[in-house]
Amino acid sequence: MSALHINEIQKYFGALLVLDGVSLDIAQSEVVAVIGRSGSGKSTMLRCINGLEKIQAGSIEVAGHRIGPQGGDLRSLRKEVGMVFQSYNLFPHLTVLENVTLAPKVVKGVGREEAEAIAHDVLRRVGLAEKSGAYSDELSGGQQQRVAIARSLAMQPKVMLFDEVTSALDPELTGEVLKTMEELADAGMTMVLVTHEMGFARQVADRTVFMHKGKVWEQGPSEELFSYPQTPELRNFIAPNL
Ligand code: ADP
Ligand code: MG
Repeated sequence: MSALHINEIQKYFGALLVLDGVSLDIAQSEVVAVIGRSGSGKSTMLRCINGLEKIQAGSIEVAGHRIGPQGGDLRSLRKEVGMVFQSYNLFPHLTVLENVTLAPKVVKGVGREEAEAIAHDVLRRVGLAEKSGAYSDELSGGQQQRVAIARSLAMQPKVMLFDEVTSALDPELTGEVLKTMEELADAGMTMVLVTHEMGFARQVADRTVFMHKGKVWEQGPSEELFSYPQTPELRNFIAPNL
């Protein structure tokens, strides 16, 4: 059964066609990495999947919700799809626990006790159980990004989207965030992750999708795609100097 079904979507910004008939089917518990040059449409695709951008053609189905050019039930859809960005944007005046309980309380109407139980559970999953009382300026960038992941998990999404979540981090902090994502993958979360970490994509993602000029240019099981790229564009992207 597919957890996410993207059918021939087109996205324009003004006259610029940024997604040119993108289709993708993602199975329950599948981990899909999205790679490609800057400007190839990776972020826009993720933003369309959780309804942050309107599409002009095609449709997206996730967890029983469908969006098309006429829109759809975006509020319901966003409850099912979590998204984590490069910039984590925690509320600095709130503790870690308050950051993580906020959306379940406000968006889902979950009671305080239940929200806190969920928060403790997801903070444990990202390895930050002991930081629930801390403020963001007391945390490293890697820890803040893991809180951002916990904040998203607290909504109990069916699909998680990650957009270059380690790109803003110092190299020594990327490992802990990648490890958190790998553990989520191992736990069966359905994930789509845009990344520059080719090693991570190759090892952790079941499938890797190479985007080029607003299209899914090439895709396949990660190991196969990296070992045997079929198009000159992907070959050049993976190993520009060969
Ligand atoms: P990627 O994430 O692969 O780097 P993006 O999805 O961010 O690519 O961008 C794809 C294209 O869409 C680029 O040409 C970019 O300039 C353009 N674009 C992205 N967001 C906007 C926007 N809000 N308004 C106009 N153009 C945009
Ligand atoms: Mg991007």
